Amino acid sequence: MSTSFSSPAYDVIVVGMGPAGASAAYELSQGGLSVLAFDKQAHPRYKVCGGGLSARITKILPDDFLSVVEQSVNRVRFTYGEQESFLIQSSEPIAYMVMRQNFDQWLVEKARQVGTVIHEDEAVLEIQSGDQGVDVLTKEKRYRSRVVIGADGVMSSVAQQCFPRRFLRNIPALESEVPGESLHAFQQTPTALISLQAAKKGYGWIFPKQQGLSLGVGEFVKGTKRPKQSFRDFIDHEALLSGLMVPAPMGYPIPVASAQAYRKRQAWAGRLVCGRTMLVGDAGHLVDPLLGEGIYYAIRSGQLAARSVIDMVANPSTHRLSDYERFVENEFGQEFRVAGRLGKIIYGLPRSTHRWAGQRFPGAYQRVLHRYCEVLQGKETYQSLWNRILQRMYWPFA
Ligand SMILES: Cc1cc2nc3c(=O)[nH]c(=O)nc-3n(C[C@H](O)[C@H](O)[C@H](O)COP(=O)(O)OP(=O)(O)OC[C@H]3O[C@@H](n4cnc5c(N)ncnc54)[C@H](O)[C@@H]3O)c2cc1C
Repeated sequence: MSTSFSSPAYDVIVVGMGPAGASAAYELSQGGLSVLAFDKQAHPRYKVCGGGLSARITKILPDDFLSVVEQSVNRVRFTYGEQESFLIQSSEPIAYMVMRQNFDQWLVEKARQVGTVIHEDEAVLEIQSGDQGVDVLTKEKRYRSRVVIGADGVMSSVAQQCFPRRFLRNIPALESEVPGESLHAFQQTPTALISLQAAKKGYGWIFPKQQGLSLGVGEFVKGTKRPKQSFRDFIDHEALLSGLMVPAPMGYPIPVASAQAYRKRQAWAGRLVCGRTMLVGDAGHLVDPLLGEGIYYAIRSGQLAARSVIDMVANPSTHRLSDYERFVENEFGQEFRVAGRLGKIIYGLPRSTHRWAGQRFPGAYQRVLHRYCEVLQGKETYQSLWNRILQRMYWPFA
């Protein structure tokens, strides 16, 4: 619906205070803009999530985020069969493990401290765009702002109302938390487990936390085995889980960046910015299509969206909100393209091929996985990893 109305009370309204919304709100308030933010729940709130952060997150978060880290992980074990596994170790962290209720609350408090006005337990129901601003309706009241940022997650109502051209590729995932301190050696020497065997065309994970383990399964290719079945097989067959009481998992979709997004450079146009409304994080389907990692991209997209709003407010003649789509393409576009390509190969190959290749070329496997962990550490990118793989494959012909 389009209406015109008097001048807005806030520069920006942020809908949803997960990592994407809280990061956008923090940057905008820091930049001197007036920000009102809503969340339909009150923090701390539970969020179905593995809570694994790739170590490169340190580049975009203040140092004190370590106060909400449960475990720093320097070891990742990759398995693809019942016996075989590759252990990658590093002197520096490869990943950080958080519980989302604590991590998200910490981000929300950061935004509050710099001046964001936050209304919790207040769901946004409707968005009405006008020439001068946007009306945001909740059950309580009608609010006005110059710009609205939709950070309301995978089921985004902002996206549904304002973005007819939005991406729609959700993959099913299941997650369970196993409580109990010192469950086993994985937790004492913090190690993350990634199991290709756990899913038909995806992977299973076990992440160590202070008070237990987070474990789950994601199926990355449409129409494969039902994830509930994959999850049951995972807990039945994974030796590390034997004897543990695993609570029933909770399911939730992961909105990975779709092939449309990473095939064409201009594909983002109109999908993240529409008039005065923007999408960040899961609402914009900004999730790595290989790993399903979304928290890093949620935070970074929130920061990039905030930067384009601040630039536009300061210099409306030279900057536009749609600059945000260019920033996203520059930072994530090529990375998502390569991650999507790698995902097609890795999840598309039968597991028996992985087993055969791992046994036949263990050194090459180990090297690729080591480089992959360097991508998580921010020392490599998906693009540089891909180029190395191509160089290796073609060097005999060079
Ligand atoms: C099983 C599973 C495991 C995962 N594991 C990992 C992992 O290990 N590492 C990783 O990086 N990513 C992981 N992800 C992905 C990650 O959880 C998301 O990418 C991330 O939460 C996106 O953050 P966000 O801020 O965009 O959205 P969210 O975290 O979903 O936050 C959205 C917020 O908006 C609020 N909201 C929704 N609707 C409204 C409304 N109408 N009005 C007001 N507020 C509203 C919600 O209450 C919520 O607080 C996983 C996802 C799943 C499903």
